[in-house]
Amino acid sequence: MSDFSKDCTDCGACVDACPFLKEYGTPRQIVKEKPEKVFLCASCRRCDTVCPLYLSPAAFFFETKEKLIRENQMSASVEKAMNGARAFAKAGHGFPFSFYAKTETVFWPGCGLAANRPGLIRKLKGLLRKHLHQKVGLVLDCCYDPVFGLGDTRTTFAALKEINKRLHDSGVKKIITGCLNCHKLLSEHLQDMEVVFILEVLPVEVFQKQNTEDIYLHHPCPSSRWGKIPAVALSAVNHIHPATISDNGIKKSEPLCCGLGGGLNSIDPGMADRFLDDIVQKAKDKTVITYCTGCQNRFLQRGIKAVHLLECLPEEEARQTVPSPIRQWMNRLALASSARFMTPKFMIMLAVALLIVVGVCLNQQGIFSADVLKNLLERHPVAAPVIFLLIYAIAPALFLPSIPITLAAGFFWGPVWGVIFSITGATIGACLPFFLSRHLLQDFIRSKISAERWQWLQDKVNQHGWKAVAFTRLIPVFPFNLLNYLFGLTPIAFFQYLWSTFVFMLPACIAFVAFGSSLSELIMRGNVQGVIIGIVIAAVAFLIPALLRPFFRKIGENKDTNITP
Ligand code: SF4
Ligand code: SF4
Repeated sequence: MSDFSKDCTDCGACVDACPFLKEYGTPRQIVKEKPEKVFLCASCRRCDTVCPLYLSPAAFFFETKEKLIRENQMSASVEKAMNGARAFAKAGHGFPFSFYAKTETVFWPGCGLAANRPGLIRKLKGLLRKHLHQKVGLVLDCCYDPVFGLGDTRTTFAALKEINKRLHDSGVKKIITGCLNCHKLLSEHLQDMEVVFILEVLPVEVFQKQNTEDIYLHHPCPSSRWGKIPAVALSAVNHIHPATISDNGIKKSEPLCCGLGGGLNSIDPGMADRFLDDIVQKAKDKTVITYCTGCQNRFLQRGIKAVHLLECLPEEEARQTVPSPIRQWMNRLALASSARFMTPKFMIMLAVALLIVVGVCLNQQGIFSADVLKNLLERHPVAAPVIFLLIYAIAPALFLPSIPITLAAGFFWGPVWGVIFSITGATIGACLPFFLSRHLLQDFIRSKISAERWQWLQDKVNQHGWKAVAFTRLIPVFPFNLLNYLFGLTPIAFFQYLWSTFVFMLPACIAFVAFGSSLSELIMRGNVQGVIIGIVIAAVAFLIPALLRPFFRKIGENKDTNITP
C-alpha cells in the first residue's frame, strides 16, 4: 500500500474511467483525505486497465477497506451494508438453503441463479451430465462474495474454509460454477479443487441460434480476471446471434461494473446508478446479453431488455422481471428441498411408509385384511398374476419404476410366488424395450442418446459378451430402464441377453420381494418375526450383487480403464 502512495502521480487517467473517482478524486487523494469513501469502490478493476504506470488502484482500495474494517472504522451506512451482507450470506450458507451432493463433479450455480431461475438449474445440470458423460451433483451454498466485496476477508475466509471441508466430506473434486463471483472466490481460495466456469464446459452448439436484434454483450466485471471466460462468452453469443454484436471492450480488457460490485448499491444507490448509466449509454437501445444474474437484474430494474446467456438454451424464455426478495428465498428453499428429498431413495422410503400407514388403517377398519386379500387372490388365481405380468411387462418400456411393482409381488403372493412372478415380469419388461430398440426404433433411440453412451456399451459387449450384461445389471452405470433400450443397439445375441438379464436381476428381485413380503406380514398379521425374517432375506440377497461386483468390475477395468459411460 505504501508503494502505491509513493508511485501514484495523481495523473488522473483512472479518474476519467470511474464515476466514483470522478466524484472524489484520485485514489491517493481519497485514501489520504477521505478514507471512509473507499467503500464506494466497486472493485471492478477498470482503473487498473487504464493506469499508465500499471498500478492497481482497485487493490489499493481493497487493502484500505480491509484495514478500516480491522480497525473498526466504518461509517453507519457501511456498517449497515456489512451487517446485511453477513446476514444474507450466513442464511444461504446454512440449513435449509445449502445442499451438497455426494458426487465427484458438482454444479455450483450460485445464489443468483438459484433465486432467480431455479428451473434453469435443473436443465443445466442435465446438460452438464450429458456433455461430460458423468454424474453431476448439485451444490447450493453462498460463497460469501457479498461480504468479501465489502472488504471483510476474515469472515469470508472462515466461511470458505468450511465450504472446503463440506466439499471434501462430500467427495467433490471438480466444481462447475454458474456465477463468476463464486468462480472468483472458489478458484482462488479452495485447495485441491478443480474449478471451471459453466461456459467453458458447455459447447456453443447447445445454445439456440436467434437472428433478431442487435446485441450488446455485457461482460460482468469479475470476467476480466480470466482471458478465456469472456472469449467463450463472446463465441457463444456469436453463435446465438450471428448478426453484429458489440461488447464492453473485452479486447481492451475494460471491465464495467453494473453498480453491484463491492456492495456499492447497498451503501450508495445513487453512485451505483451512475455506474449503470455508463453501460446503458454504451448499450444504446440494444438488447443486453450478460452472464451474471446480478447484472441482469440491474438492467431489468432499469427497464432494459436483458437476457442471461444461459437463458438462450432451446425452449427457455428470458425472464422479464426480477422476483421479489421473498420469492427469491422461496425459490432457493424449493430448489434445496427438492435436491434433498426428491431422490429415488427418499421416494421409495416415503412410498413404503405411506403403504404401511394406509395398510394399517384399512386393516383396522376391516376393509383390507389378510382374509380379504387371500379371498381376492383365490377368486382370481389366473387373472391376478396375468394382470400383474402385463403391468410389469409394459412398465420398464414406459420408464416407470419397477421397484414398487416388485415390492407388490412380495406383498400379494409372498416370497416364493412373488419371486416367480416378478422375475418373469421383469425379464419380459427388459426384453420388450430391447426388441423395440433393435427392430423398430433404432434411429430414434440413437438420436436421443449421446453416441458415446451406447458406443461405450457396444465396446463392452464386443469385449465381454454376456458379462457386459452382468456387469451393468450389478453396477448401475445406466438407469435400468434406459439400459434395456441401449442393449438393443448393441450386437449382443438375444438369448444371451435374456438369460443373463434373468440371472443377474434375480438377487435384487429376491431382495425386494422379501421386503415386500415382510411388509405384508407386518400390515396384515402384525407379525414382527415375519418382518425380521423378510428383512434378513432381503439383506442377504442384496449382499450377492455386492459380492459379485468386484469380479465384474475387474473385467471392466482390465480391458478398458474408463468404465464411466
Ligand atoms: S470502482 Fe472500479 S474503476 Fe472505480 S476505483 Fe474501484 S475498481 Fe477502480
Ligand atoms: S492512473 Fe495510476 S498514476 Fe494516475 S492517478 Fe490513477 S492510479 Fe495514480
